[in-house]
Parts: sequence; C-alpha cells; structure tokens
Amino acid sequence: MTPTAITRAGPERAVVGIDLGSTTVKVVIYDGSRYIARMTPASWDPSGTASALLAAASADFGLTVPPGIIATTGYGRRTMKDVALTPTEITCHAKGAVFLMPGCRFVIDIGGQDAKGIRLSPEGNVEDFVMNDKCAAGTGRFLSATGQALGVPVDQLATYARGAEPHRINAMCTVFAESEVISLVNQGIERGAIIAGLHASIARRTASMVASLHPLPPIAFTGGVSQNSDIAQKLEEELHQPVIVPKDAIYAGAIGAALLAWEHRNIPEFEVSRVIKSEK
Ligand code: ADP
Repeated sequence: MTPTAITRAGPERAVVGIDLGSTTVKVVIYDGSRYIARMTPASWDPSGTASALLAAASADFGLTVPPGIIATTGYGRRTMKDVALTPTEITCHAKGAVFLMPGCRFVIDIGGQDAKGIRLSPEGNVEDFVMNDKCAAGTGRFLSATGQALGVPVDQLATYARGAEPHRINAMCTVFAESEVISLVNQGIERGAIIAGLHASIARRTASMVASLHPLPPIAFTGGVSQNSDIAQKLEEELHQPVIVPKDAIYAGAIGAALLAWEHRNIPEFEVSRVIKSEK
C-alpha cells in the first residue's frame, strides 16, 4: 500500500509511531501533515522487528534514524529502547481513527488477538471502552486458524463468503471451531457457507460485546480484520448502522501513536533525552 508520502524535506521534524501488535508490527513516520506507513509480520523479537522496519521505512524516504521522538503502542510497546512515550492501544486507536475518519463517534478495532469497542465524545475523546483480550474467539487469530483448516488465506475469506448462506458455527473457542470446521467439510458443507458462518459468529460476538456502550454513528472499523469486507457488512447488519472502514484502517494504532509523538515533540524532557541518546 502507498500512503501519502513524506517528502525528504525537513526530516528533523518527523516523528514515529509504532504499533507492536500480536500479529503485525506497524511503523508510521509523520511530519505534521503527511505520513508514510509500513508493516511486517510480528516475530519472537518484537523490538528487533520494529527497529528493522523503522530503519527500512526511514531509508526508503531518505530520513535519518530515528527521525524524531518515538511513541510505541500495542502488546510489545514496552520492549523497545529509546522510546519517549508508550501510550495504550485504546488511546492510540481512538486518536488514529479520528485522524483517519474525522467526526467518528465509535471505533471497533479487531486485531490479531483482541477486539475493542471505543465510544468517543463529539470532540474525539475516549468516553468509554470494552475489550476482549482474554480469548482468541472473534479475533484475527480465530480467522487465520479456521481459514487454515479450510485452506483459505485470510485475505481471501471475504471472497469465498460473499453471497453464501452462513452455516451456523456453534463453537466459540478457536480450537473447537477448527475441529467443527473440519467436521463440516467432511459432511460436505460448502466452504463459502462455513466461512460466512464464521464471519457471522464474529459479527454477532462483536456486536454483543459493544452493545453496552450503545454505539453511535459514524462507526469506524479498524485493525487487520477490518480488511475483511464480509465481516464489515455482517457487522453493519448486526448493529443496524453503517460501519465505515477508513483508508489505512490497519495503521490506526500506529498513526495514533505518531500523533501523540508529534504533540510531544517540543517538550524539553523528550528533546533532551533524544539528544543525549543520539550522542552516545
Ligand atoms: P495486531 O495489531 O494484533 O498485530 P492486526 O490489526 O495487524 O493485529 O490484525 C491482524 C489480523 O488481521 C490477522 O490475524 C488477519 O486475520 C487479519 N487481516 C490482516 N490482513 C487482512 C486482509 N488483507 N484481509 C483480511 N484479514 C486480514
């Protein structure tokens, strides 16, 4: 993907947001008006992966490393050194979603290993949130495991499901769902119907998770799973409201982190620590 490119001019003004997620690491470099974004699969070494990705992204654009202060978010946010800020995922996803979709009042983020609902004030501040990070059911991990059992890569699941009548999936646990899927295949149920059933179960589960927050439109759908258009559509049906997937929705957390880094770029303690670190 090719987000709006930062020009080589003024690298000293650029800052960095990094989302060290369970499944992918995302880097965003932001200069106050434009950003570039890159992602790579997560590994056993989140900080090494993030540093390599930042170096590659910076080099692509002729920027020095690090271009400016760094804010990290996501599961691995505390694993990187020389980081000025480590804001939570809720703060970053909310901020990133408002940047990508100004005026949004609710964010649904489904990533590799968790799902969140965030209610926002008209000014874009977090009013309340719910999160499932205890179990992989209803997350990207659930989709990749069951997709693998069906021989369908995650980025093709929506194509298989489109137009198919969902077959009811009873298991919520990822491990049991995998067994159920295999058993359904052996009963001759079409893969499209099984996948549509898995999507329906994720949409139902997500809608019931966020129900207590009474989601208001416009609703932004972010995180890797937002790239699955069939889930976005089924979520709309469950919530009885339009669900919008903004451009670069998978980068919402990293964009939010970069925006926070930008807000803190002139605070002396961060400037000083960066200068000291870069002089070592
Ligand atoms: P995390 O931030 O936890 O690392 P992500 O937000 O990167 O997670 O989401 C990863 C999940 O998104 C994957 O497990 C996969 O199910 C889903 N995903 C990523 N890309 C796509 C795509 N192109 N189409 C459909 N699903 C996708």
